[in-house]
Amino acid sequence: MIEKVKLYIGGEYIESQSQQWVDVTNPATNEVIAQVPCATESEMNAAIASAAEVFKTWREVAAPERARLMLRYQHILKENHDNIATLLSSETGKTLADAKGDVWRGIEVVEQAANICSSMMGETVENIARDIDGYSYVQPLGVCAGITPFNFPAMIPLWMFPLAIACGNTFVLKPSEQVPLTAMLLSELFTQAGAPSGVLQIVHGKKEQVDHILTDKRVRTISFVGSVSVGEYIYKTGTDNLKRVQSFAGAKNHMVIMPDANKQQVINNLVGASVGAAGQRCMAISVAVFVGDTKAWIPELKQALAQVQPGAWNDENAGYGPLISQQAKQRVVELIKQGKAAGADCLLDGSDCQVEGYPKGNWVGPTLFANVATDMSIYTEEIFGPVLLTLEVDDLDQAIALVNANLYGNGTSIFTASGAAARKYQHNIEVGNVGINVPIPVPLPFFSFTGWKGSFYGDLHAYGKQAVRFFTETKTVTARWFDEDIPSGPNMTIELK
Ligand code: NAD
Repeated sequence: MIEKVKLYIGGEYIESQSQQWVDVTNPATNEVIAQVPCATESEMNAAIASAAEVFKTWREVAAPERARLMLRYQHILKENHDNIATLLSSETGKTLADAKGDVWRGIEVVEQAANICSSMMGETVENIARDIDGYSYVQPLGVCAGITPFNFPAMIPLWMFPLAIACGNTFVLKPSEQVPLTAMLLSELFTQAGAPSGVLQIVHGKKEQVDHILTDKRVRTISFVGSVSVGEYIYKTGTDNLKRVQSFAGAKNHMVIMPDANKQQVINNLVGASVGAAGQRCMAISVAVFVGDTKAWIPELKQALAQVQPGAWNDENAGYGPLISQQAKQRVVELIKQGKAAGADCLLDGSDCQVEGYPKGNWVGPTLFANVATDMSIYTEEIFGPVLLTLEVDDLDQAIALVNANLYGNGTSIFTASGAAARKYQHNIEVGNVGINVPIPVPLPFFSFTGWKGSFYGDLHAYGKQAVRFFTETKTVTARWFDEDIPSGPNMTIELK
């Protein structure tokens, strides 16, 4: 029998009464592995009501105790690392190595959440006026919500609920309906770690359920990660409803290759960063910008890419897995067609890729384009597949101008042996996450994930100290501690000239 994914409300796993269910498929076979409900109106209400009610008591739990819950959770996640990765592979198609990375990046955020006491410190100034002190506390907000994409089913929910809950908030998570199973396992392990009932709820669904979250007055903050159009919609609708919103959207990430870079290092890194995870990473390199003579390296890049074979999650030789769905594959294949029709040179075309033993999988082989113009749809749209574009420029200034003209600003990298070139790039580039001889510069969680321009809307970025600010309010107190005048010392006034 096909598993019916439950809702998680008030500490109970509940079978939804919904009439609308979505199939969850294994992307390598397209077999249905589970069905996920689109939660009903009353189930959505119950989840938010539970979070609002439990907040009243959870906010009173001592901060070190909340931190200890995160320490226990980190331990249990580590113990279950391989189980989570295997489940994650089955619903995303990711190779096991890639899935393990997904889980590990999430565990690192839980470690950050375990430091919550120092991240929530306020500030004090004594004697802001005679016998009056000023200080601020950092307090939780209430019900926080998260809406997450398919491509990192462990890491991205873990960007959100551990930090929010460690701050003293309660949480409603709506994972991607394409990959709900990993989130359910994360919730079970959270309960095992000692999380009280109702601190975390999980609801399932699509636009209608997201709209409920966006408009419900009890929800104070919304963290979203997903595609460009949905990200814009979430930011606009959430802020129209006067909520605090952080919205992480799509990307078009460029790697700039300087003539003094190490050719072999460039080619190896470009291959992994562009087609790894089937290009379904918001930090994937999708455009390689060859500066000056480095364009002569493109034939070798083509050779290296042609050797990468996609395959099933447990195939140790697989370079990457299938695309998440048949629709995702069709969209990528259509964009490849458009690139060819627009006049770009398709040096490698993965549209007809087959993988032995998996005739129904959503495979796309490594694809490489040269002579791409910046008004072609393959350049203006995020492809989110194993497709790499190459562009050629004369010098670093042209490369910087090209990258800065792009609508997105999630990640970028430069490969060079020159400190001066790297410093110039780092200083002038209008992108939030910059790698110097590092292809996918994802910051560790003691920093923040800092997309710019069309890749991020809102304020206070993900998972670092700044995210604690996102999940909290600051309360500033101005206090005279006595109800009668007890001067604390001799009075002296100064006259300022
Ligand atoms: P998506 O936008 O289709 O879905 C994301 C979430 O939004 C899901 O939970 C989905 O159910 C919900 N949703 C979908 N359509 C909706 C609608 N019309 N109204 C309201 N909610 C809706 O994204 P995806 O395909 O799951 O994920 C891939 C995208 O996520 C890529 O564009 C990628 O770049 C982006 N992403 C960005 C980052 C980042 O940090 N900037 C990280 C990972 C992924």
